[in-house]
Amino acid sequence: MHEERYQQRQQHLKQQVEERVAAATKSGGIIMVFTGNGKGKSTAAFGTATRAVGHDMRVGALQFIKGDWECGERNLLERNGVEFHIMATGFTWDTQDKAADTQAARLVWEQGVRMLSDPGYHLVVLDELTYMLTYGYLSLDEVLAALKNRPAHQSVVITGRACHREIIALADTVSELRPVKHAFDHGIKAQKGIDW
Ligand code: ATP
Ligand code: MG
Repeated sequence: MHEERYQQRQQHLKQQVEERVAAATKSGGIIMVFTGNGKGKSTAAFGTATRAVGHDMRVGALQFIKGDWECGERNLLERNGVEFHIMATGFTWDTQDKAADTQAARLVWEQGVRMLSDPGYHLVVLDELTYMLTYGYLSLDEVLAALKNRPAHQSVVITGRACHREIIALADTVSELRPVKHAFDHGIKAQKGIDW
């Protein structure tokens, strides 16, 4: 009897999954957002990039980051043909010079605009983009327009905390990473190979 009920349940489950798979008939590029305060946003972004590269797809990546950080995924992906543009030079989080920061962000963003209008790119990673909008270094309207007008088959990954609601509204897949625990909170410092 137990066995029978199990089989019925599994059959029902299988049917539900099959119906959902059958209903998903569209294909094409999507916008993915990895946001929230938990660890895993950039690693998810570059994990997706690794998948695409593994299928010989062309990937471009922008990093709107602080300082000239070494970065394991950049080391690996650059060797595998991924084009990176990093804001690093001339940018620090604690600067008083908004004009210089805006300029640094715009220089990197120009490369993004180029990638987002080039059908040769299958995937464009915009790592830590959300902060550029929070600080007003890039215009929301400009970013939304570039995302909306990109080639139909091209996908985009955006990372960073506190993602603007209009970007979330536009996105197809949004995951919020929630910190349940983080090693840093109990005194473990950031480590090579884990945190960068
Ligand atoms: P990762 O690059 O490891 O996927 P992330 O992109 O989600 O992390 P960021 O906000 O970009 O996180 O922060 C980058 C650095 O801060 C990483 O070294 C990461 O391990 C660390 N970090 C992420 N979340 C937390 C947290 N909740 N508390 C402390 N440190 C964190
Ligand atoms: Mg990150």
